[in-house]
Amino acid sequence: MLRSKPPTPRGAVRLESSALVTILLLLIMFFSGLAPGGPDGQPSGPSSLSAASQPAPAPSEPETGSAKASSTVPAPAPAASPAPAPVPGSSHPSGNKPLAGYTIVLDPGHGGRDPGALGVSGRTWEKYNAWFVALDAKALLEQAGATVVLTRTGDVYVTLAERVQLAHRHGADLYISIHNDWNPTASIRGVTTYYWHERSRRLAEVLQAELASRLGTRSVGVLRQPFYVLRNTQMPAVLVELGFLSNREEEARLADPAYRWRAAEAIYRGVLRYLSEA
Ligand SMILES: [Zn+2]
Repeated sequence: MLRSKPPTPRGAVRLESSALVTILLLLIMFFSGLAPGGPDGQPSGPSSLSAASQPAPAPSEPETGSAKASSTVPAPAPAASPAPAPVPGSSHPSGNKPLAGYTIVLDPGHGGRDPGALGVSGRTWEKYNAWFVALDAKALLEQAGATVVLTRTGDVYVTLAERVQLAHRHGADLYISIHNDWNPTASIRGVTTYYWHERSRRLAEVLQAELASRLGTRSVGVLRQPFYVLRNTQMPAVLVELGFLSNREEEARLADPAYRWRAAEAIYRGVLRYLSEA
């Protein structure tokens, strides 16, 4: 009766309940020493069947040897294998920490007696906008397991040298400086990501793509500039300009918590994507 069945394609085996019965019968036959010589032309019962009845694990799973997880035991899911980006704000399966082991420095620009750019309306300061984006991004990155270090603890003045030293002291893997732009031409708007060293270019490209799409704004582009924090950091480092405070419309958006949250999400997604490529 079993042998009269037409050959069943492997993919279908796990879908049909009748095939499950077949598997059970074959397993019973195997363990009682009655293994058939491959009813449908497949090698021999149990091993191939047990392989076919395992739906989830991809064949490449044991090979996920990433730099951060060099273990001798073939543990199934090393912490550093970046899973597909969880949707921020949605429930995070516990134990799913794709950024565990990474230290990321978020550098909200300016602070204290250095307010940064003043919005064209005169009501918003760059130092506050950058701060709140950094807080949101910190929450998202930490949720994914990262260690996040902020270069300032609130509205306080910190020199550029101190920010860079902090990043080195923590052995940061990535450095992301957060700013708002300003231009004398009020019509100019859009998001820009800067880098300096070649090692930082890819991170800049990924973040810029995420920011432009997530914020739904014009992409000024990925530009190279020798800003102090980009020049003097030893890890991939970028500086994002999330929009122009000199543009009335963008000033309003940059002060909007929902817009800032989207910017933080873009930073978070960019980091995930960048590290999953590494
Ligand atoms: Zn700035």
